[in-house]
Amino acid sequence: MTTTSTEQPPRPSAAPTDDSGAPGTATEHHRVIVIGTGFGGIGTAIALRRHGFSDVVLLEKADDVGGTWRDNTYPNCQCDVPSNLYSFSHTPNPEWSRTFAPQGEIQNYLRGVVDAEKLRPLIRFGHEVTEARWNADVSRWDITTPAGRFSAEVLVSAHGGLSAPAVPDIEGLDQFEGTVFHSANWNHDHDLAGERVAVIGTGASAIQIVPGIVDTVGHLDVYQRTPAWIVPRLDREVSERQKTWYRRLPTLQLANRAVQYASRELMAIALTRRPALLRFPERAARDHLERQVPDPALRAELTPTYQIGCKRILLSNDFYPALQKPNAELITGGVSRITATGVVDTHGTERPVDTIVLATGFNVTQHPIAGKVFVADGVSLAERWNNGMRAYLGTTLDGFPNFFALMGPNTGLGHSSIVYMLESQINYVLDCLLHMDAERIATYEVRPDAVATFDAEMQKRLASSVWNQGGCASWYLDSTGRNTVMWPGFTFEFRRRLKHFDPSAYTAVSRPGVPGRFGPEAPNAAVASAGAVAT
Ligand SMILES: Cc1cc2nc3c(=O)[nH]c(=O)nc-3n(C[C@H](O)[C@H](O)[C@H](O)COP(=O)(O)OP(=O)(O)OC[C@H]3O[C@@H](n4cnc5c(N)ncnc54)[C@H](O)[C@@H]3O)c2cc1C
Repeated sequence: MTTTSTEQPPRPSAAPTDDSGAPGTATEHHRVIVIGTGFGGIGTAIALRRHGFSDVVLLEKADDVGGTWRDNTYPNCQCDVPSNLYSFSHTPNPEWSRTFAPQGEIQNYLRGVVDAEKLRPLIRFGHEVTEARWNADVSRWDITTPAGRFSAEVLVSAHGGLSAPAVPDIEGLDQFEGTVFHSANWNHDHDLAGERVAVIGTGASAIQIVPGIVDTVGHLDVYQRTPAWIVPRLDREVSERQKTWYRRLPTLQLANRAVQYASRELMAIALTRRPALLRFPERAARDHLERQVPDPALRAELTPTYQIGCKRILLSNDFYPALQKPNAELITGGVSRITATGVVDTHGTERPVDTIVLATGFNVTQHPIAGKVFVADGVSLAERWNNGMRAYLGTTLDGFPNFFALMGPNTGLGHSSIVYMLESQINYVLDCLLHMDAERIATYEVRPDAVATFDAEMQKRLASSVWNQGGCASWYLDSTGRNTVMWPGFTFEFRRRLKHFDPSAYTAVSRPGVPGRFGPEAPNAAVASAGAVAT
């Protein structure tokens, strides 16, 4: 975290003001508004508050915090990065029951952090941001939710990269007469006991769901389009003794975190620079498959034809065994269509089912929030990203002043904790706010050349990565083949590059009437742009 002074200059009142123009509605103004209350939103609020920014509000469309860990409640849902690493650096949790904690524990951890940090009063649940529009006249974001209108000097979108379920466009899906739900919206009111169930997909969620339900359902069809590389999950119970040590000596847990972190960073070399090194994890995955699947025909169906790492490497000890249970069947090739009562595979065979579980992932490159954020000329983020997502340091965009996208383009990982990336971005937001106050800046807007230079660097570095060269089609690549999802290096490089806000990459506008670095200026007239682009 940055150690810049925490003293803040006086801020304008945060009280609701009746300036919306609409009769009977008041617009509530805040210094910073954060969209979302997952790791990103919660982490942002904590960092800003700890550094003296008290006028922060979080808008959350749901009725609880947790984001990913509130929504993904499917059976057997767990993280796939060890919990000592997949948690806030400032709040280790000695109570994790397993090395890879189950969903409910992560959700409770986030709830606990919110309570310990007294964040609940800042959160407005049931406030889905339906529009955020930059108002250049007064240098603020006007934000609309069904439950009220807001404005903010700074908007941080912690909407989550994996928070918009992707429902596949399969012919006949809307005609299906049974029950259908997405893995991220598990229908707990629906009893699967004894049913014929189809799970569509064999990605990260599916390989947890299949062993989670195989013993409950009557029959399970698992539809696989492309097999995944799966390595053993080195998961174990954390003993009471170990928990006691963690409670007494938090440094021990931090040391474990450091080991987990460092060992994962080694993988970045293989994924991004030396794909030849991937033969070692590939050997481990092949051995795992051979050990767990004796039938050569089934093994062949489960063996990927692309290089390991091209798609997310999955961890599981119980997926292959679940597939070999007498009531389970693997159907390769995927789904061609759905009828009123069943699923038709690509060979034309229809299998009747009662329930379809769509384990089909998330809209990553076309997140709905992008269609809701507009700049003054009416252009939305989605329109800006029509030709592919781009953002400076994965976080800021030209044309979108005082706007930060957490988990933005090229911040995804194949080997470590997203929370680490989020904390890096949060630090950048914080340092920007400290700069704004120190320099009396009303708006910072990243320069287009900074965005273009950063994007060119990303694409150049990713060109030789396994994600681009490994011979698979994945959600890391957009429709034009650009990799706009993954970070092409070590995570500590990302941390270093976002450690300090770099004003030289930005155009700054001084606060009206306030003598700042660029002198007292009329509103929006004091445009200062200086220095070379920092990359
Ligand atoms: C099943 C699953 C397992 C995962 N496991 C791992 C793992 O092991 N390790 C790892 O590093 N990553 C994992 N991830 C990725 C995970 O999403 C991130 O690690 C992290 O939780 C993202 O946090 P976030 O706050 O950015 O987003 P989220 O947790 O998705 O939170 C976003 C929040 O924004 C809210 N929101 C969205 N749009 C709006 C709107 N318009 N208005 C108001 N609120 C809105 C949502 O309701 C949500 O609460 C996993 C993801 C999934 C889906």
